[in-house]
Order: sequence, then C-alpha cells, then structure tokens
Amino acid sequence: MPSFDVIVIGLGGMGSATAAHLAARGTRVLGIEKHGPAHNRGSSHGGSRIIRQSYFEDPAYVPLLLRSYELFAKLEQDSGRTISTLCGGVMLGPPGSRTVAGSLRSARQWDLPHEMLDAKEIRRRFPTLAPRDDEVGLYEARAGLVRPETTVTAHLQLALQAGADLHFEEPVTRWDVLPGGAGVRVHTAEDVYTAGHLVVCPGAWAPSLLADLGVELTVERQIMYWFHPRGGTEPFTPDRHPIYIWEDADATQVYGFPALEGPDGGAKVAFFRRGTVCTPDTIERTVHDEETAAMAAHMAERIPDLPGRLRKAVACMYTNSPDEHFVLARHPAHPDSVTVACGFSGHGFKFVPVVGEIAADLALNGATEHPIGLFDPLRGAHP
Ligand SMILES: Cc1cc2nc3c(=O)[nH]c(=O)nc-3n(C[C@H](O)[C@H](O)[C@H](O)COP(=O)(O)OP(=O)(O)OC[C@H]3O[C@@H](n4cnc5c(N)ncnc54)[C@H](O)[C@@H]3O)c2cc1C
Repeated sequence: MPSFDVIVIGLGGMGSATAAHLAARGTRVLGIEKHGPAHNRGSSHGGSRIIRQSYFEDPAYVPLLLRSYELFAKLEQDSGRTISTLCGGVMLGPPGSRTVAGSLRSARQWDLPHEMLDAKEIRRRFPTLAPRDDEVGLYEARAGLVRPETTVTAHLQLALQAGADLHFEEPVTRWDVLPGGAGVRVHTAEDVYTAGHLVVCPGAWAPSLLADLGVELTVERQIMYWFHPRGGTEPFTPDRHPIYIWEDADATQVYGFPALEGPDGGAKVAFFRRGTVCTPDTIERTVHDEETAAMAAHMAERIPDLPGRLRKAVACMYTNSPDEHFVLARHPAHPDSVTVACGFSGHGFKFVPVVGEIAADLALNGATEHPIGLFDPLRGAHP
C-alpha cells in the first residue's frame, strides 16, 4: 500500500495550492483529483476571478488578502506565467449598501489606498458605467483579476517540480482515520493509499466527502455570461476598464470584468450569490435564454453598451457556509489526522495561495500564524 506524509484530496483551486506549499516544504505529498488538471466541472474555471483588498465581507480578511497578493506575485515569478491583471476596481451602489459601506470600513480600518467617487466622477473616469445620481463608488487601484485556470496549472507545476505525486481522473471513494493516531487511509477507484495526515479540499463535493464535518453547506449553480459589447471591445479593455461590483437598492449584487479575450470576445458579468441549489451531479449546465435576457436587462440599466451579443454562458458552483465565511481548520472530529478547506461561499479564489499556505501549516504543525478565527467550523456552535 503506497504511503505518504500527506494526501490532498481535490486538486482544484485550494488543493493545488496546498499540494504546492506542502511539496515546497519537503513533504512527501500525494494529490488525488477526480477530474483532469484545471478542469471546468467545479468552481475554479471561467478565465477570471476578482481580486480586491477593501473587503466588504469583513475587515478580518484583509491581512490574508495582503499575503495573498504577495503569494500571487511569487507564483507568477516561480511559474513564469501571467496570472493577475490589476486593472483597478470600483465597488458601486447606494452609500449605505454593504458593497460601498463595507468596502470603506475595511479600507479605513487597514489604511488601504482608495478613493470615494460620486456618480458624476464615476461617469467621467469610466464612461461605460452609468450609475444613478444617488450611487457612489469606492475605487481601489490595486483591485483587478486573477486567472483561475492559470493559477491552478501554476500550482500543479510547482508541486510536481518539488516532487509531489499527482493523480488525475482518480476519484476518491472514501477515506478513514486509522486507530491509535496511525494516520489515514484513502480509497480510490484504483488503489488504497495511507498517509500521516489528510487535507480535504473538495469544493462542491464537500457534502459527500466531509459528511461528518458538522457544517451545513449549500451548493449553488451560478452562471457567468460573456457579452460582446455593442460598440466593440475597445472601451472595455483592461487598460481602460475596471472590475466592478455593483449593488442595487434591493441588495442584488452584479459584478464584471474588462474584455480579456481579444476584439471578438466578450466581457464577463455575473450575479453574486443569486444561484439555485444543486449538487455536482444534478447541476443544470445548459443556460437558458430567459436567464440571459434577465442579465442583459439588468446590465442595460448600468452599462448600456455591454449587453450586445452573448458570446457564451457557463455554469459554475458556489459552496456556501451558513454565514458565508470559509471553513479552514483541523477537522473537529479528527483533529490529529485531517485538515479541511471548504465552504468558500463564492469568494475564495482571491485567497487561493494563502489558503494553500495555511492548509500546509495546519497539516504539518496543527496551527498557523495567520488569523483564521473566522473560519472555525465550530463557530456556529459557540454562543
Ligand atoms: C461563477 C463563479 C465566480 C466566482 N468569482 C469569484 C471571484 O470573482 N473572486 C473570488 O475570490 N472567488 C470567486 N469565486 C469563488 C472561487 O472560485 C471558489 O471559492 C474557489 O474556486 C473554490 O476552490 P475549491 O478548491 O474549493 O474548489 P474546486 O476548485 O472546485 O476544487 C475542488 C476539487 O475537488 C475535486 N474532487 C471532488 N471530489 C473528489 C473526489 N471524490 N476525489 C478526488 N477529487 C475530488 C474536484 O474535482 C475539484 O477539482 C467564484 C466562483 C464561481 C463559481
């Protein structure tokens, strides 16, 4: 039975980063993935992910984001790949909205460079955007995007270079903890492996692979739409166009990107957290005309030139925890042998490299210097 120091289940965003960090520390790692490298069946595909620092979700994420920016830069250098484009970003909405007020709170608390723009100034600087007079925006020059498939490929490349064993197209069927602190055993369709420690990074498959975690996770289908702008992509290129998150009076959030796919491509846009419940087995991958029409109508009021012709629409999954904060810790039921990284609730990608670093810390040392109190799986049980 092949034996390792650490086995990582799932080599998507989080698992590929964890395998790379573990291997870089000289650990004998086996990574096991059910699909191929950087595939499009989970949560880490679609060409772009927003990265930003003035985090409206909670200021507690900011130190992790600062480290993530450093690690993304290092990943680009070490892998020789282009991963990020820091084109700037605007968080828009009514002044009291979570998107605007929450971003401002994080920016102020952590002294992050930012500017507050009124509607007139937004229109002047970013002529594609048409905010209402009562909307404002927080502009962050360091916001932008990272490329998820390239990030995963880069981490897999570094893990391999550092000596990790990576198995693809090999689904894990079950895992168990051996008695007496003897480590773990992982069963796949092809073999059985043992290791001193297990890290489970299952994405949307968490409800089945982490059934005894004690956290209620909900998987949601989310659609990404690429529209070819009416007047062409030129006003939408990353040197002219920011990423944006735009909140309505009714708290609906939509977010989007510059056009990254050349003159014939589209600019991507999606609703944030407005999905339908699904499982990885039952998710409807077809996107219907009514869905596209609803998105086009929503954007016509905000970025009138954007909803030209639809280039493509692709489904993806969020795995939501009850409070939409991550789950990143030793497994409460198996604290000596298993680390978990799941429940990224639709906002995890910008943290991928720092999650890899933290999961490696937890696996090897049982603790990390990074502040991760918010991600305790038992937080719901605390008074
Ligand atoms: C449409 C959309 C837009 C998003 N936008 C943003 C954004 O702008 N900014 C941001 O920060 N975040 C964003 N996110 C969230 C972010 O992409 C996710 O939080 C992140 O990709 C989750 O990574 P993961 O490793 O948990 O999941 P995944 O990358 O899906 O990895 C899980 C892996 O586990 C494998 N696996 C599962 N079961 C098994 C098994 N039994 N055996 C072996 N392998 C298994 C899967 O095949 C998969 O590869 C977005 C997500 C979506 C869907």
